[in-house]
Amino acid sequence: MIRLGFYGAAGEVTGSCYLVTTDRARVMVDMGMHQGEREADEHNRRMPPVDPAGLDAVVLTHAHLDHCGRLPLLVKGGFRGAIHCTGPTADITGIILRDSAGIQEEDCRRFNARLRRGDEPCIEPLYDKEHVERTLPLLAAMAYESPKQIAEGVTIRFVDAGHILGAASVQVVVNDGPRTVTIVFSGDVGVTGSPILRDPRTPVPADVVLLESTYGDRDHRSLGETRDELLEILESAQATGAKVLIPAFALGRTQDLVFHIGEFVRAGRLPGLRVYVDSPMATAVSKNYAFHTDVYDERARQLLADDLSPLRFPGLTYIGSPEESKRLNDAKGMMVIIASSGMCTGGRIVHHLYHNLSNPRTHVVIVGFQGQGTLGRRLVNGDRVVRIFRNDVQVRAKVHTLGGFSAHAGQSGLLHWAEPFRESRPRVFLTHGEDGPRGVLRQQLSARLGLEAGLPGYGDSVEI
Ligand SMILES: [Zn+2]
Repeated sequence: MIRLGFYGAAGEVTGSCYLVTTDRARVMVDMGMHQGEREADEHNRRMPPVDPAGLDAVVLTHAHLDHCGRLPLLVKGGFRGAIHCTGPTADITGIILRDSAGIQEEDCRRFNARLRRGDEPCIEPLYDKEHVERTLPLLAAMAYESPKQIAEGVTIRFVDAGHILGAASVQVVVNDGPRTVTIVFSGDVGVTGSPILRDPRTPVPADVVLLESTYGDRDHRSLGETRDELLEILESAQATGAKVLIPAFALGRTQDLVFHIGEFVRAGRLPGLRVYVDSPMATAVSKNYAFHTDVYDERARQLLADDLSPLRFPGLTYIGSPEESKRLNDAKGMMVIIASSGMCTGGRIVHHLYHNLSNPRTHVVIVGFQGQGTLGRRLVNGDRVVRIFRNDVQVRAKVHTLGGFSAHAGQSGLLHWAEPFRESRPRVFLTHGEDGPRGVLRQQLSARLGLEAGLPGYGDSVEI
């Protein structure tokens, strides 16, 4: 008997975790962190119904925290098997998990320091740096398109997902006695035409498909229009000598922006432009992009062949020390500063906003999703006064919101990805999406491709 269980990203966009079990094998696909919701911490402590020590293998689709963030909990629970992923994913996961353990330890230390004034018990991080260091040696890198048996009767193959460096969709062929069933996990599906990465591909065939549905209800603005908008903002800032602040996630979004701005510079636009990437994590991730040129798309390969790099151009500086970062606060003239965190909830971008928001010449360019209650969301909403470092800061800067830089396919992209299954009609389950978007995508899959999809909830499991 082959069972498929859903233990995260079922009716929500974080906490990806699925379990495939047969009489002979137990394999987990992704073990991600729940993020953003009020109950996130409680959900992160709720483990799937399997003894980690009894798992044969884990498959990791990509290095985003909501897919890899709870892997150390498996190791804490006794897991000693391999975590299969692509080479870039193995490298970037190290950066992400070390950062995650550091943030958790720091948050707990601060929270407990406050608690100590009362009598309440202290809280503990989900895991610490030592658990992370025991997890990283288990990451086992595999090439795209090279099938490998990872457990008795279970073979996997990674296919480009075009989402971030190393991201993959995975085809899992499960053999259980006389039956062989093929399950495809889409992972996070990227956007066709995204910089540096090859376009998403659909692994066929499949008997069962798990498809992400983050933007199942809408399409993004086109990448071309969005790039034009960005260029216009940069040109107008250059004309007035203004600073342009871009809050961006360190993994993926920052590299995309550097690529796009580099293309403007390579085309001879924006002469003399200065761009600073002010995020140690983004810098570390960018170095990994430079190690893994074998997974680049044609445009990025062409740049390498011409002795250029997709993530370098004259005028671009990766900032290291906090002192260098502080020096940017007083620096004059037009410059672009790309810094994290992406939602302005911490990190160096908050300092730059603090020093520049009240200047009417400053431009703030929002390029990613801003969660409820974050400083980024308040800027998008047009608040004229925001609270930073316990001070009221007047917002006189111009705030632009650009919607077309998403790393996730919109509705049309998801339908395009699912199209090759039109004939074979596999069983489809929509995951990694809230109920609104995945409900709309379900209607569209049925109307346009004749595919009927289920909407699993947390803890559901099906026999396949
Ligand atoms: Zn992702």
